[in-house]
Amino acid sequence: MDALETALRENRAYLCLSCGKCTAVCPVARKDAGFSPRRTVERAVNDDPASWLGGEDLWKCLTCLRCSALCPGDVRFSEFARDLRALAREHGSTGACTHGDAIFTWMRLMQDPNLRQNRLGWITDDLQVSEDGDTLYFVGCLPHYDAMFRGQGFEGVAIAQNTVHLLNRVGIAPRVLPDERCCGHDLLWAGDVEGFRALAHLNATLFAQAGIRRIVTSCAECYRTLKMDYPSACGLKVEVLHISQVLAQSLAAGSLALRRSALRVAFHDPCRLGRHGGEYDAPRTLLAAAAELREMEHERERALCCGTSVWTQCGQVAKAIQDERIGEALAADAEVMVTACPKCQIHFTCAMSGAGEASGPRVAVRDLTGVLADALVGE
Ligand code: SF4
Ligand code: SF4
Ligand code: SF4
Repeated sequence: MDALETALRENRAYLCLSCGKCTAVCPVARKDAGFSPRRTVERAVNDDPASWLGGEDLWKCLTCLRCSALCPGDVRFSEFARDLRALAREHGSTGACTHGDAIFTWMRLMQDPNLRQNRLGWITDDLQVSEDGDTLYFVGCLPHYDAMFRGQGFEGVAIAQNTVHLLNRVGIAPRVLPDERCCGHDLLWAGDVEGFRALAHLNATLFAQAGIRRIVTSCAECYRTLKMDYPSACGLKVEVLHISQVLAQSLAAGSLALRRSALRVAFHDPCRLGRHGGEYDAPRTLLAAAAELREMEHERERALCCGTSVWTQCGQVAKAIQDERIGEALAADAEVMVTACPKCQIHFTCAMSGAGEASGPRVAVRDLTGVLADALVGE
């Protein structure tokens, strides 16, 4: 099986020392004794694929990179899980979508080159967007998630509105594209490489036609995907920045003024911005200028994941991880846990919207853009 051999070699699985450090820190393994990244590697190296390729273990990994930093063999477990999922898919095994495949269905619909969308209804009259500028705000799937998750406290398209508002305040009127497609992050990490590439090529064509030279995202997953995966998937060569990076530069240059309040906030590092993208400082610099910043027990490289990835395997283990993270925010005496990834906000607000939460969420969860928009001087 050539693809398996390639996945084993490219992700350094043969160099696994069976030390178990990955399993010791893995947020999933800490809640689910049946899951072990060490054992998953061991089986992939030694056992007949028929005995493990169709199993659930491949879909349990959150691809959060927590284990990789500690691995003495430099095994790339997140990427290994991603590549094995592509292989599993070829053999008929897919991770079950917690939302009945609704989310993956719209990602597939967006692969139609002739699709015409109406995805800009969130732009209000007070927001300035450009018809011909070369800086794009890549909105991602916010309008779709807004329709599905707003009822549980997800900020939805308000994140897009706050992003444009903040960009306007630092002198940028961004382009927004009416036919932008999903970035394809979830397809790629769920093993649908062909579907991911189709979306990447459609987006890259739209960027080129519009003359885009710089892309700003408000989603950590879009950021990772456009910056790290598009160059090899579709040859994208433009600068990609997360909104926190643009605003931190503006703050340092004196072109962004924030009013500091006594609001106690803790920053939840989204794995795609932090461990994947290496950006820990920009959101903290901004939050420290806008509020009273607290740190949770696990922060920066050691941050806990939001518990759910690519919309699969959301159950007791995911809820236990989310519960632990919310507990860390409370232990830090934070009034608000701030994220810089809309999906983290979806998952955390979901975790607090169950029957046991009838009296309301234990901690507010807000997107970075909302907290910063509230802190703009002169508003
Ligand atoms: S930390 Fe690395 S070397 Fe150790 S068991 Fe895990 S994958 Fe293998
Ligand atoms: S990437 Fe994260 S979830 Fe996956 S095995 Fe490593 S620590 Fe566990
Ligand atoms: S935590 Fe996330 S994946 Fe799980 S049900 Fe809620 S929104 Fe869906």
